[in-house]
Amino acid sequence: MYSLMANCCNWLKRWREPIRKVTLIMVGLDNAGKTATVKGIQGESPEDVAPTVGFSKIDLKQGRFEVTIFDLGGGKRIRGIWKNYYAESYGIIFVVDSSDVERMEETKETMSELLRHPKISGKPVLVLANKQDKEGALAEADVIECLSLEKLVNEHKCLCQIEPCSAIMGYGKKIDKSIKKGLLWLLHIIAKDFDALHERIQKDTAEQKAAEEQEKRERAERVRKIREERERKEREEAEREGRSISDEVDPELVTGNPFQPISTVIAENEKKIEKEKKRQREENEKEALALKPKTDQDQMDSQSLISQQSNDCRLVEKYKSALTQRLEHEDENDQQVSESLDSGDNATLNPGTENSKKKAKKLKLKRSHRVEPVSAEETISPQPTPVTPLAPVGWETPKVHRIRKLEPLGEMRHNGV
Ligand code: GDP
Repeated sequence: MYSLMANCCNWLKRWREPIRKVTLIMVGLDNAGKTATVKGIQGESPEDVAPTVGFSKIDLKQGRFEVTIFDLGGGKRIRGIWKNYYAESYGIIFVVDSSDVERMEETKETMSELLRHPKISGKPVLVLANKQDKEGALAEADVIECLSLEKLVNEHKCLCQIEPCSAIMGYGKKIDKSIKKGLLWLLHIIAKDFDALHERIQKDTAEQKAAEEQEKRERAERVRKIREERERKEREEAEREGRSISDEVDPELVTGNPFQPISTVIAENEKKIEKEKKRQREENEKEALALKPKTDQDQMDSQSLISQQSNDCRLVEKYKSALTQRLEHEDENDQQVSESLDSGDNATLNPGTENSKKKAKKLKLKRSHRVEPVSAEETISPQPTPVTPLAPVGWETPKVHRIRKLEPLGEMRHNGV
């Protein structure tokens, strides 16, 4: 009777407890079995999982806890991002591949670095000595010794529990009992000291956010300065060479996020290069038209010279001569039909001449297909460059376009925090 009442009291006490949101991080070397463990907890088959490359996140409910577990990739180069999650984590699950004796030293160093971090020291740590099903796997006591676990956790005042387990033994309700036991222990420790831990996490995350904002601002400022300096140099160079330079201002510089995904940056850069090429092509065409040979012999000479240029030059030249011929031919006729067209009255054209109608139609078409400049940049006419008789027809040395925006390498922060 007494125990029944005690149970009821406990149940009522727990029922009145608020729902607590708790974030945990699951870390450890690559291939330790982190993903297999989270999958098992989540109720998915942990078999055939690939080692964690980036990070994954699972949400689960355990009693009055809403738990979020971040499974963070353990590759050497990706371990740097772990610290972005330290501030918000209430506890740590450290997975060890007990069968990989050769990497125990690396595991020890990694764990030592983790527990030493000011945003981690003092927080509870669950060590899962995984892959116990494998032959030659180190037993719990050996793992403790190899990692100097006692010394480490005492030094950094972390409450710690180690559970020997196998993540592939089962999943969901059939998950290895040691994993379940370890997780319950961790949540229990967190619950016992929840208020103090929660306060620390609020403070740490606010600090981290402020530091990140500050870093972002500093980075933006650095990028702005670099860009200004480069534009100044470009302007000076252009002035020295007598070129005009468009004072176009990149709107992203003013308002947008300077840190774009690399794919966007590349695509934009390619567009700019295309635009620049187009502009150069137009300039070359104009130059070539100005240098148009007067006689057939000249034309042949000129064409033989051009044939030595690159494929792109030949294309431009071909386009140029076709355009010149067409313009010459059409200009003769334009004069005759323009008056009739301008009046918009086709009936005024001589109805008896089929030819005139065609010409009128052609001119109309020509006018309707006239290419208008599509942007302000294209409307800026290039400065007339002095043309010397030996000026080469072709591309200038391609201008090197540096990628203007930078992309942060470890920008993987979870939005919710
Ligand atoms: P992670 O890089 O730490 O996320 O490691 P994974 O969870 O991707 O596991 C790496 C490899 O180890 C996979 O092939 C898993 O199937 C395997 N693995 C994980 N846990 C165990 C285990 O307890 N026993 C055995 N034998 N293999 C495991």
